Amino acid sequence: MSDLILFWHRRDLRISDNTGLAAAREQSAKVVGVFCLDPGILEQDDIAPARVSYMIGCLQSLQQRYTQAGSQLLILHNNPVTAIPALAEALNAKAVFWNWDVEPYAQIRDNEVISALKVKDIQTLEQNWDQLLHAPAEIFSGAKTPYTVYTPFWKNWISKPKLKPVATLENCENLTDEEQEIAKKTGAIKLPSAQDLGFIWDEELIIEPGERAAISKLETFTNSAIDQYQEQRNFPAVDGTSQLSAALKFGVIGIRTVWQKTIVALENSNSEEATNSIITWQKELAWREFYQHAMYNFPALAEGAYRDSFKNFPWRNNEAHFQAWCEGKTGYPIVDAAMRQLNEIGWMHNRCRMIVASFLTKDLIINPQWGEKYFMQKLIDGDLSANNGGWQWSASSGMDPKPLRIFNPASQAQKFDADGEYIRQWVRELKSLDTEFLISGNITPLERSAVGYPAPIVDHKKQQALFKQMYQQQKVSMD
Ligand SMILES: Cc1cc2nc3c(=O)[nH]c(=O)nc-3n(C[C@H](O)[C@H](O)[C@H](O)COP(=O)(O)OP(=O)(O)OC[C@H]3O[C@@H](n4cnc5c(N)ncnc54)[C@H](O)[C@@H]3O)c2cc1C
Repeated sequence: MSDLILFWHRRDLRISDNTGLAAAREQSAKVVGVFCLDPGILEQDDIAPARVSYMIGCLQSLQQRYTQAGSQLLILHNNPVTAIPALAEALNAKAVFWNWDVEPYAQIRDNEVISALKVKDIQTLEQNWDQLLHAPAEIFSGAKTPYTVYTPFWKNWISKPKLKPVATLENCENLTDEEQEIAKKTGAIKLPSAQDLGFIWDEELIIEPGERAAISKLETFTNSAIDQYQEQRNFPAVDGTSQLSAALKFGVIGIRTVWQKTIVALENSNSEEATNSIITWQKELAWREFYQHAMYNFPALAEGAYRDSFKNFPWRNNEAHFQAWCEGKTGYPIVDAAMRQLNEIGWMHNRCRMIVASFLTKDLIINPQWGEKYFMQKLIDGDLSANNGGWQWSASSGMDPKPLRIFNPASQAQKFDADGEYIRQWVRELKSLDTEFLISGNITPLERSAVGYPAPIVDHKKQQALFKQMYQQQKVSMD
């Protein structure tokens, strides 16, 4: 057996601060990366072209990073359960290492790869949770059960010491020419474009792909905007959040690196406002981990509602209403602005994700799984755990203890888009309307038809009353 260790990248598209990759490099200088374009994932019907485009850009950048480290990143396009063990065997690798993932599909796939490698007597790395600051098994309640509520999770999670970033891959030995040929014969290909894979994204990506771009975004954010995050994060027209979600989803940046920056920011903080803002941002990183732990501990979340009262909820599921919501044509300006932002750039501000999710579930009374899927079809940062967590929170079907949270679109716009700047940016036909009417949505039928903007498809007041009534009935029938 050779000294070669194959490192299988999945949602860790970087060579810096990568715990599994650093462990591989400690064992051997001959570390070669591999990424498998998995048809089982790419052929699903919830894949966003913007996300694939970003991922391909990150893989291009990862290939360059490997070259700088003296090695290379191989690309496969096949089922990893067969392709990874076949490549490892053909190259006579002594081990295949990778970082673990919380998602149910990944768990099953990885166990199958482990079994196939075992048969071939190829070593693997023990569970290694690179993408999290704390592994699921580290954070349990006093009763030794996983948390289902965020606040006690956060208290426990923040009290634990956190690892520092690990070493960047360097000074590697590459495959020999003969091994390169073997890799090609065993399926290694040139990196295809997103278009080659059937995904068309003509717009410029809102987030620049690659490790260096992610580090630079982190630096820009933690050097300044983080100090005002607590207040600024709520206004969709303001650039007040980090926009690191896509990089975090694909592991283009190490979570320990991100955390360390927050510690430095806290040390440099010179006001109470700044300190509170930095802690608020840390809490968002903990939400990310909370939802990932939840997905790992309760994989059934991926299939639908967590709460019993929502498991057979009589959703109205009106197809025409759903279509209007998707297209940003509900007649509610803040909802439509958000959906058009999503459709145009593949990203949506968090405040607006909550507004449109509440509108779909509580006003249109449509199954949250429809919205969850639509988000996955569009979002550059679409991530099973965070998206599912966000939808279950908004639909009140999840672990959140407050069951009937209903957002009023007009009050949300009044509070968070008081000048109508965000609405004007995305609902262009309303650009010249007075702000008062824009945010309240009190636009006369005449004005609506003059600019070609639709009438409201439902009445918010009536729908929220109806939803509450349906919810009570459902609760009674469950008791
Ligand atoms: C209905 C709904 C669907 C969502 N779908 C996704 C999704 O598919 N992918 C995704 O990454 N986030 C999702 N979120 C969470 C949140 O909206 C985004 O993470 C955030 O808007 C990304 O912008 P940012 O990177 O500037 O965040 P920042 O405000 O700068 O936050 C920093 C990081 O913390 C994490 N984070 C922040 N808020 C949350 C949260 N509520 N839940 C989990 N992680 C969080 C993200 O990794 C984010 O990059 C969803 C929220 C809702 C309400």
